[in-house]
Amino acid sequence: MAFRDYFQEDMYYRQNSAEMKDLQLRKLRERLKIYSESSPLVNMLIENTGIKPEEVTMEQYNAAVPVITQRDAGGSSSGSDIVGNRAALSGVDEQDFVLLCSTSGTTGEPSPYFLTEEDLQVTAHGLARAMWMISGESEEELRSFRAVQAFALSMVGAGMPMVETLIRLGIPVIPVGAEGGTERIVYFTQKLRGNLLFSTPSLAEHMAEVEPQKVKDLGFKRIVCGAEPGAGVIEVKKKMEADYGCPVVDAMGLLWGMAWVSCDHPEYGGMHFLADDFHIIQLVDPETQENIPFEDGAVGQLVLVPLVGSLPPMRATPGDSVQVFTQPCKCGVPGWRMKVVGRTDDMLKVKGVVVFPAAIDGVIAAFVPQVTGEFRITLDAPPPKVEPPLKLKVEYGENVKEERLQELAGEIAEEMHNRLKVRPQITWVKPMSLERSTYKTRFIEKNYE
Ligand SMILES: [Zn+2]
Repeated sequence: MAFRDYFQEDMYYRQNSAEMKDLQLRKLRERLKIYSESSPLVNMLIENTGIKPEEVTMEQYNAAVPVITQRDAGGSSSGSDIVGNRAALSGVDEQDFVLLCSTSGTTGEPSPYFLTEEDLQVTAHGLARAMWMISGESEEELRSFRAVQAFALSMVGAGMPMVETLIRLGIPVIPVGAEGGTERIVYFTQKLRGNLLFSTPSLAEHMAEVEPQKVKDLGFKRIVCGAEPGAGVIEVKKKMEADYGCPVVDAMGLLWGMAWVSCDHPEYGGMHFLADDFHIIQLVDPETQENIPFEDGAVGQLVLVPLVGSLPPMRATPGDSVQVFTQPCKCGVPGWRMKVVGRTDDMLKVKGVVVFPAAIDGVIAAFVPQVTGEFRITLDAPPPKVEPPLKLKVEYGENVKEERLQELAGEIAEEMHNRLKVRPQITWVKPMSLERSTYKTRFIEKNYE
Protein backbone atom coordinates (compact mmCIF):
# COMPACT_ATOMS: atom_id res chain seq x y z
CA MET A 1 0.00 0.00 0.00
CA ALA A 2 1.31 3.43 -0.95
CA PHE A 3 0.54 4.77 2.52
CA ARG A 4 3.26 2.59 4.07
CA ASP A 5 5.81 3.96 1.56
CA TYR A 6 5.34 7.39 3.09
CA PHE A 7 4.32 6.80 6.71
CA GLN A 8 7.30 6.89 9.08
CA GLU A 9 5.87 5.29 12.19
CA ASP A 10 9.07 5.69 14.22
CA MET A 11 9.03 9.48 13.69
CA TYR A 12 5.32 9.71 14.48
CA TYR A 13 5.95 8.43 18.01
CA ARG A 14 9.14 10.45 18.61
CA GLN A 15 7.75 14.01 18.38
CA ASN A 16 8.92 16.62 20.88
CA SER A 17 11.60 14.36 22.41
CA ALA A 18 15.16 15.24 23.45
CA GLU A 19 16.37 13.01 20.63
CA MET A 20 14.28 15.10 18.20
CA LYS A 21 15.92 18.32 19.46
CA ASP A 22 19.37 16.84 18.67
CA LEU A 23 18.16 15.79 15.23
CA GLN A 24 16.83 19.30 14.54
CA LEU A 25 20.12 20.99 15.41
CA ARG A 26 22.07 18.44 13.34
CA LYS A 27 19.78 19.00 10.35
CA LEU A 28 19.90 22.79 10.71
CA ARG A 29 23.72 22.79 10.67
CA GLU A 30 23.78 20.46 7.66
CA ARG A 31 21.33 22.58 5.71
CA LEU A 32 23.05 25.87 6.51
CA LYS A 33 26.22 24.28 5.14
CA ILE A 34 24.52 22.96 1.98
CA TYR A 35 22.74 26.24 1.28
CA SER A 36 25.85 28.31 1.87
CA GLU A 37 27.41 26.35 -0.98
CA SER A 38 24.44 26.05 -3.37
CA SER A 39 22.69 29.41 -2.98
CA PRO A 40 24.73 32.63 -3.29
CA LEU A 41 21.87 34.62 -1.75
CA VAL A 42 21.55 32.40 1.32
CA ASN A 43 25.34 32.32 1.60
CA MET A 44 25.36 36.12 1.72
CA LEU A 45 22.69 36.09 4.44
CA ILE A 46 24.63 33.55 6.49
CA GLU A 47 27.88 35.47 6.08
CA ASN A 48 26.19 38.69 7.22
CA THR A 49 25.06 37.01 10.43
CA GLY A 50 28.58 35.80 11.20
CA ILE A 51 27.36 32.34 12.28
CA LYS A 52 29.36 29.21 11.46
CA PRO A 53 27.06 26.56 9.93
CA GLU A 54 29.01 23.57 11.29
CA GLU A 55 28.95 24.58 14.94
CA VAL A 56 26.15 27.11 15.41
CA THR A 57 23.95 26.64 18.49
CA MET A 58 20.20 27.22 18.47
CA GLU A 59 20.65 30.33 20.65
CA GLN A 60 23.29 31.80 18.32
CA TYR A 61 21.14 31.07 15.29
CA ASN A 62 18.06 32.77 16.83
CA ALA A 63 20.04 35.80 17.92
CA ALA A 64 21.65 36.26 14.50
CA VAL A 65 18.89 35.43 12.01
CA PRO A 66 15.97 37.88 11.74
CA VAL A 67 12.36 36.76 11.26
CA ILE A 68 10.98 37.45 7.78
CA THR A 69 7.50 36.91 6.37
CA GLN A 70 6.85 33.65 4.53
CA ARG A 71 6.12 35.77 1.47
CA ASP A 72 9.60 37.23 1.45
CA ALA A 73 11.11 33.83 2.23
CA GLY A 74 9.48 32.42 -0.91
CA GLY A 75 10.77 35.23 -3.15
CA SER A 76 8.68 38.22 -4.16
CA SER A 77 5.90 37.82 -6.74
CA SER A 78 6.62 41.22 -8.28
CA GLY A 79 10.10 40.45 -9.64
CA SER A 80 10.79 40.05 -13.34
CA ASP A 81 11.85 36.40 -13.22
CA ILE A 82 10.01 34.80 -10.32
CA VAL A 83 10.91 31.22 -11.22
CA GLY A 84 14.57 32.02 -11.85
CA ASN A 85 14.90 34.03 -8.65
CA ARG A 86 13.27 31.35 -6.58
CA ALA A 87 15.49 28.64 -8.12
CA ALA A 88 18.58 30.72 -7.31
CA LEU A 89 17.38 31.20 -3.72
CA SER A 90 16.82 27.46 -3.30
CA GLY A 91 19.99 26.50 -5.13
CA VAL A 92 18.13 24.26 -7.60
CA ASP A 93 17.60 24.19 -11.36
CA GLU A 94 14.35 25.96 -12.27
CA GLN A 95 13.13 22.87 -14.11
CA ASP A 96 13.32 21.04 -10.75
CA PHE A 97 10.12 22.84 -9.75
CA VAL A 98 7.52 20.33 -10.90
CA LEU A 99 4.46 22.05 -9.39
CA LEU A 100 4.15 25.83 -9.53
CA CYS A 101 1.49 27.08 -7.13
CA SER A 102 0.39 30.30 -5.50
CA THR A 103 -1.63 31.47 -2.51
CA SER A 104 -5.16 32.66 -3.30
CA GLY A 105 -4.30 36.23 -2.38
CA THR A 106 -7.39 36.67 -0.19
CA THR A 107 -5.28 38.58 2.32
CA GLY A 108 -3.19 40.62 -0.12
CA GLU A 109 -1.17 40.01 -3.25
CA PRO A 110 -0.83 36.32 -4.19
CA SER A 111 2.53 34.75 -3.25
CA PRO A 112 3.89 32.03 -5.50
CA TYR A 113 5.39 28.86 -4.10
CA PHE A 114 7.05 26.15 -6.09
CA LEU A 115 7.49 22.49 -5.28
CA THR A 116 10.21 20.06 -6.31
CA GLU A 117 9.78 16.28 -6.34
CA GLU A 118 11.48 16.20 -2.92
CA ASP A 119 8.97 18.81 -1.65
CA LEU A 120 6.10 16.63 -2.85
CA GLN A 121 7.60 13.57 -1.16
CA VAL A 122 8.00 15.30 2.19
CA THR A 123 4.44 16.67 1.83
CA ALA A 124 3.27 13.07 1.48
CA HIS A 125 5.28 12.03 4.57
CA GLY A 126 3.54 14.75 6.58
CA LEU A 127 0.06 13.98 5.28
CA ALA A 128 0.61 10.26 5.97
CA ARG A 129 1.20 11.10 9.66
CA ALA A 130 -1.86 13.36 9.72
CA MET A 131 -4.01 10.66 8.12
CA TRP A 132 -2.74 8.14 10.69
CA MET A 133 -4.06 10.38 13.45
CA ILE A 134 -7.31 11.09 11.56
CA SER A 135 -7.90 7.34 11.18
CA GLY A 136 -7.54 6.85 14.95
CA GLU A 137 -4.31 4.94 14.19
CA SER A 138 -6.22 2.19 12.41
CA GLU A 139 -5.07 0.84 9.07
CA GLU A 140 -8.49 -0.65 8.45
CA GLU A 141 -10.17 2.73 8.97
CA LEU A 142 -7.58 4.38 6.74
CA ARG A 143 -8.27 1.91 3.92
CA SER A 144 -11.99 2.68 4.14
CA PHE A 145 -11.57 6.43 3.46
CA ARG A 146 -12.75 7.99 0.22
CA ALA A 147 -11.90 11.68 0.37
CA VAL A 148 -14.12 14.46 -0.92
CA GLN A 149 -11.77 17.34 -1.69
CA ALA A 150 -13.91 20.46 -1.20
CA PHE A 151 -11.20 23.05 -0.73
CA ALA A 152 -10.70 25.46 -3.63
CA LEU A 153 -9.46 23.13 -6.35
CA SER A 154 -6.75 25.38 -7.61
CA MET A 155 -3.19 26.51 -7.14
CA VAL A 156 -3.43 26.82 -3.34
CA GLY A 157 -1.78 24.19 -1.15
CA ALA A 158 -5.08 22.60 -0.18
CA GLY A 159 -6.05 22.40 -3.88
CA MET A 160 -4.00 20.55 -6.49
CA PRO A 161 -1.11 19.61 -4.16
CA MET A 162 -3.59 18.07 -1.71
CA VAL A 163 -5.17 15.91 -4.44
CA GLU A 164 -1.75 14.83 -5.71
CA THR A 165 -0.67 13.91 -2.16
CA LEU A 166 -3.80 11.91 -1.35
CA ILE A 167 -3.27 9.90 -4.55
CA ARG A 168 0.34 9.22 -3.54
CA LEU A 169 -0.90 7.82 -0.23
CA GLY A 170 -3.37 5.55 -2.00
CA ILE A 171 -6.37 7.35 -0.51
CA PRO A 172 -9.12 7.53 -3.16
CA VAL A 173 -10.14 11.13 -3.80
CA ILE A 174 -13.14 12.86 -5.38
CA PRO A 175 -11.82 16.27 -6.50
CA VAL A 176 -15.11 18.15 -6.62
CA GLY A 177 -13.58 21.37 -5.19
CA ALA A 178 -15.23 24.28 -3.41
CA GLU A 179 -15.93 25.88 -6.80
CA GLY A 180 -18.52 23.16 -7.44
CA GLY A 181 -20.74 24.69 -4.77
CA THR A 182 -22.87 22.96 -2.15
CA GLU A 183 -25.19 21.18 -4.55
CA ARG A 184 -22.43 19.48 -6.53
CA ILE A 185 -20.45 18.58 -3.41
CA VAL A 186 -23.52 16.90 -1.91
CA TYR A 187 -24.39 15.24 -5.26
CA PHE A 188 -20.96 13.74 -5.89
CA THR A 189 -20.44 12.71 -2.28
CA GLN A 190 -23.66 10.74 -2.49
CA LYS A 191 -23.14 9.32 -6.02
CA LEU A 192 -19.50 8.36 -5.53
CA ARG A 193 -19.90 7.42 -1.86
CA GLY A 194 -17.35 9.84 -0.41
CA ASN A 195 -16.98 9.51 3.36
CA LEU A 196 -14.23 11.93 4.42
CA LEU A 197 -14.80 15.65 3.80
CA PHE A 198 -11.91 18.08 3.39
CA SER A 199 -13.16 21.66 3.49
CA THR A 200 -12.92 25.05 5.15
CA PRO A 201 -15.09 25.29 8.27
CA SER A 202 -17.05 28.14 6.66
CA LEU A 203 -17.99 25.98 3.66
CA ALA A 204 -18.90 23.00 5.86
CA GLU A 205 -21.07 25.28 8.02
CA HIS A 206 -22.66 26.82 4.94
CA MET A 207 -23.50 23.38 3.51
CA ALA A 208 -25.13 22.35 6.78
CA GLU A 209 -27.13 25.56 6.80
CA VAL A 210 -28.44 25.14 3.24
CA GLU A 211 -28.99 21.35 3.26
CA PRO A 212 -29.26 20.32 6.92
CA GLN A 213 -30.88 16.92 6.37
CA LYS A 214 -28.91 16.01 3.25
CA VAL A 215 -25.51 16.63 4.83
CA LYS A 216 -26.43 14.51 7.83
CA ASP A 217 -27.59 11.69 5.55
CA LEU A 218 -24.27 11.69 3.67
CA GLY A 219 -22.80 9.70 6.55
CA PHE A 220 -19.33 11.26 6.64
CA LYS A 221 -16.87 9.45 8.93
CA ARG A 222 -14.91 12.65 9.54
CA ILE A 223 -14.88 16.30 8.51
CA VAL A 224 -11.33 17.61 8.17
CA CYS A 225 -11.29 21.40 8.34
CA GLY A 226 -8.41 23.68 7.49
CA ALA A 227 -7.31 27.01 5.95
CA GLU A 228 -9.01 29.04 8.73
CA PRO A 229 -9.36 28.66 12.51
CA GLY A 230 -13.10 27.76 12.84
CA ALA A 231 -12.79 24.07 13.77
CA GLY A 232 -10.44 24.93 16.62
CA VAL A 233 -13.12 27.13 18.21
CA ILE A 234 -14.83 24.68 20.51
CA GLU A 235 -18.40 26.03 20.03
CA VAL A 236 -18.03 26.01 16.23
CA LYS A 237 -16.58 22.48 16.31
CA LYS A 238 -19.45 21.19 18.50
CA LYS A 239 -22.07 22.78 16.27
CA MET A 240 -20.52 21.18 13.16
CA GLU A 241 -20.30 17.78 14.86
CA ALA A 242 -24.00 17.99 15.65
CA ASP A 243 -24.82 19.13 12.09
CA TYR A 244 -22.87 16.29 10.43
CA GLY A 245 -23.18 13.59 13.08
CA CYS A 246 -19.43 12.81 13.02
CA PRO A 247 -16.15 14.05 14.54
CA VAL A 248 -14.66 17.27 13.18
CA VAL A 249 -10.89 17.44 12.85
CA ASP A 250 -8.97 20.70 12.92
CA ALA A 251 -5.93 20.71 10.61
CA MET A 252 -3.29 23.09 9.31
CA GLY A 253 -0.20 22.97 7.12
CA LEU A 254 0.32 20.23 4.50
CA LEU A 255 3.06 21.48 2.16
CA TRP A 256 6.66 20.56 3.04
CA GLY A 257 5.34 18.05 5.56
CA MET A 258 3.91 20.65 7.95
CA ALA A 259 1.30 18.47 9.62
CA TRP A 260 -0.88 19.91 12.36
CA VAL A 261 -3.98 17.88 13.15
CA SER A 262 -6.29 17.47 16.14
CA CYS A 263 -6.84 14.06 17.73
CA ASP A 264 -10.12 12.41 18.64
CA HIS A 265 -9.87 12.99 22.38
CA PRO A 266 -13.18 14.52 23.54
CA GLU A 267 -11.32 17.32 25.32
CA TYR A 268 -9.95 19.49 22.49
CA GLY A 269 -6.28 20.09 23.25
CA GLY A 270 -5.16 21.86 20.05
CA MET A 271 -3.64 20.41 16.88
CA HIS A 272 -0.78 17.92 17.33
CA PHE A 273 2.36 18.86 15.41
CA LEU A 274 3.65 15.70 13.73
CA ALA A 275 6.71 17.02 11.91
CA ASP A 276 9.41 18.17 14.35
CA ASP A 277 11.95 16.45 12.11
CA PHE A 278 10.90 18.61 9.12
CA HIS A 279 10.58 22.03 10.76
CA ILE A 280 11.74 23.80 13.91
CA ILE A 281 8.80 25.75 15.31
CA GLN A 282 9.33 28.88 17.40
CA LEU A 283 7.27 31.65 18.97
CA VAL A 284 8.20 35.32 18.82
CA ASP A 285 6.72 38.57 20.04
CA PRO A 286 5.16 40.10 16.87
CA GLU A 287 6.36 43.59 17.78
CA THR A 288 9.88 43.03 19.09
CA GLN A 289 10.61 39.70 17.32
CA GLU A 290 12.12 38.46 20.59
CA ASN A 291 11.83 34.69 21.11
CA ILE A 292 9.11 33.63 23.54
CA PRO A 293 9.99 30.49 25.58
CA PHE A 294 8.28 27.44 24.03
CA GLU A 295 6.36 26.45 27.18
CA ASP A 296 2.92 25.08 27.96
CA GLY A 297 0.30 27.78 27.33
CA ALA A 298 2.69 30.29 25.69
CA VAL A 299 1.19 32.64 23.08
CA GLY A 300 3.12 34.27 20.25
CA GLN A 301 3.63 34.66 16.55
CA LEU A 302 4.44 31.41 14.76
CA VAL A 303 7.89 31.09 13.19
CA LEU A 304 9.13 28.15 11.11
CA VAL A 305 12.66 27.07 10.32
CA PRO A 306 12.38 24.52 7.50
CA LEU A 307 14.69 21.52 7.60
CA VAL A 308 13.50 19.96 4.33
CA GLY A 309 13.18 20.42 0.59
CA SER A 310 13.66 23.61 -1.39
CA LEU A 311 12.97 26.01 1.50
CA PRO A 312 16.09 27.81 2.73
CA PRO A 313 16.81 27.32 6.46
CA MET A 314 15.65 30.83 7.35
CA ARG A 315 13.21 31.98 10.04
CA ALA A 316 9.88 32.79 8.40
CA THR A 317 6.44 33.58 9.79
CA PRO A 318 3.13 32.79 8.11
CA GLY A 319 1.60 35.54 10.26
CA ASP A 320 -0.44 33.40 12.66
CA SER A 321 -0.70 34.09 16.38
CA VAL A 322 -0.83 30.78 18.21
CA GLN A 323 -0.89 29.20 21.65
CA VAL A 324 1.18 26.06 22.29
CA PHE A 325 0.63 23.18 24.71
CA THR A 326 3.60 21.06 25.69
CA GLN A 327 2.05 18.92 28.45
CA PRO A 328 1.23 15.39 27.18
CA CYS A 329 -2.13 15.14 25.40
CA LYS A 330 -4.75 12.95 27.05
CA CYS A 331 -4.96 10.88 23.83
CA GLY A 332 -1.49 9.46 24.55
CA VAL A 333 0.24 10.44 21.28
CA PRO A 334 3.54 12.20 22.07
CA GLY A 335 4.30 15.71 20.86
CA TRP A 336 3.22 19.29 21.43
CA ARG A 337 -0.02 20.89 20.24
CA MET A 338 -1.08 24.27 19.00
CA LYS A 339 -4.19 26.38 18.77
CA VAL A 340 -4.48 29.26 16.31
CA VAL A 341 -5.55 32.38 18.17
CA GLY A 342 -5.84 34.45 14.97
CA ARG A 343 -3.91 36.02 12.13
CA THR A 344 -1.55 38.69 13.41
CA ASP A 345 -2.96 40.81 10.53
CA ASP A 346 -6.48 40.36 11.94
CA MET A 347 -5.58 41.46 15.45
CA LEU A 348 -7.79 44.20 16.90
CA LYS A 349 -6.99 46.37 19.90
CA VAL A 350 -9.95 47.88 21.71
CA LYS A 351 -8.75 50.23 24.43
CA GLY A 352 -5.53 48.21 24.53
CA VAL A 353 -7.35 44.86 24.85
CA VAL A 354 -6.24 42.42 22.14
CA VAL A 355 -9.10 40.55 20.48
CA PHE A 356 -9.13 38.27 17.44
CA PRO A 357 -12.15 37.75 15.13
CA ALA A 358 -11.90 33.99 15.73
CA ALA A 359 -12.52 34.55 19.46
CA ILE A 360 -15.61 36.65 18.70
CA ASP A 361 -16.76 33.82 16.40
CA GLY A 362 -16.56 31.48 19.39
CA VAL A 363 -18.82 33.65 21.54
CA ILE A 364 -21.38 34.20 18.75
CA ALA A 365 -21.46 30.47 17.91
CA ALA A 366 -22.39 29.68 21.52
CA PHE A 367 -25.70 31.55 20.93
CA VAL A 368 -26.86 29.40 17.96
CA PRO A 369 -29.83 28.84 17.22
CA GLN A 370 -30.82 32.25 18.61
CA VAL A 371 -28.36 33.62 16.04
CA THR A 372 -27.33 31.98 12.74
CA GLY A 373 -23.64 32.23 13.68
CA GLU A 374 -22.88 34.63 10.82
CA PHE A 375 -21.57 38.10 11.77
CA ARG A 376 -19.33 40.98 10.66
CA ILE A 377 -17.05 43.29 12.58
CA THR A 378 -17.48 46.77 11.08
CA LEU A 379 -14.39 48.94 11.24
CA ASP A 380 -14.42 52.71 10.67
CA ALA A 381 -10.63 52.98 10.57
CA PRO A 382 -7.77 50.61 9.67
CA PRO A 383 -6.96 48.01 12.37
CA PRO A 384 -5.51 47.10 14.80
CA LYS A 385 -6.69 50.11 16.88
CA VAL A 386 -10.47 50.23 17.30
CA GLU A 387 -12.22 53.21 18.84
CA PRO A 388 -14.78 51.70 21.30
CA PRO A 389 -17.37 50.40 21.06
CA LEU A 390 -16.46 47.49 18.81
CA LYS A 391 -19.31 47.32 16.28
CA LEU A 392 -20.81 43.99 15.25
CA LYS A 393 -23.50 43.12 12.71
CA VAL A 394 -25.09 39.86 13.80
CA GLU A 395 -27.74 37.75 12.05
CA TYR A 396 -30.52 36.69 14.40
CA GLY A 397 -31.91 33.15 14.13
CA GLU A 398 -34.95 32.15 12.02
CA ASN A 399 -37.31 31.67 14.94
CA VAL A 400 -36.34 34.60 17.14
CA LYS A 401 -39.07 37.17 17.81
CA GLU A 402 -38.17 40.82 17.28
CA GLU A 403 -39.13 41.84 20.82
CA ARG A 404 -36.46 39.47 22.14
CA LEU A 405 -33.57 41.04 20.17
CA GLN A 406 -32.66 43.85 22.52
CA GLU A 407 -32.36 41.49 25.46
CA LEU A 408 -30.39 38.98 23.37
CA ALA A 409 -27.92 41.69 22.29
CA GLY A 410 -27.39 42.46 25.98
CA GLU A 411 -26.70 38.79 26.76
CA ILE A 412 -24.16 38.45 23.93
CA ALA A 413 -22.43 41.71 24.91
CA GLU A 414 -22.25 40.52 28.53
CA GLU A 415 -20.77 37.14 27.55
CA MET A 416 -18.22 38.80 25.28
CA HIS A 417 -17.26 41.17 28.07
CA ASN A 418 -16.80 38.25 30.46
CA ARG A 419 -14.73 36.18 28.07
CA LEU A 420 -12.85 38.69 25.94
CA LYS A 421 -13.00 41.85 28.09
CA VAL A 422 -14.63 43.76 25.24
CA ARG A 423 -18.24 45.00 25.20
CA PRO A 424 -19.51 45.22 21.60
CA GLN A 425 -22.33 47.27 20.13
CA ILE A 426 -24.62 44.89 18.24
CA THR A 427 -26.71 45.76 15.19
CA TRP A 428 -29.16 43.02 14.20
CA VAL A 429 -29.55 41.90 10.59
CA LYS A 430 -32.00 39.37 9.08
CA PRO A 431 -31.07 35.68 8.78
CA MET A 432 -29.13 34.89 5.56
CA SER A 433 -28.63 38.60 4.78
CA LEU A 434 -24.82 38.51 5.10
CA GLU A 435 -22.96 37.11 2.12
CA ARG A 436 -21.72 33.50 2.51
CA SER A 437 -18.22 32.59 1.43
CA THR A 438 -17.45 29.30 -0.28
CA TYR A 439 -13.79 29.55 0.55
CA LYS A 440 -12.65 31.61 3.50
CA THR A 441 -14.77 33.61 5.92
CA ARG A 442 -14.31 37.34 5.96
CA PHE A 443 -15.24 38.58 9.40
CA ILE A 444 -14.29 42.20 8.75
CA GLU A 445 -16.35 44.84 6.95
CA LYS A 446 -14.35 47.98 6.19
CA ASN A 447 -16.18 51.32 6.27
CA TYR A 448 -13.04 53.31 5.60
CA GLU A 449 -12.14 52.25 2.04
ZN1 LIG B 1 -4.20 14.25 21.41
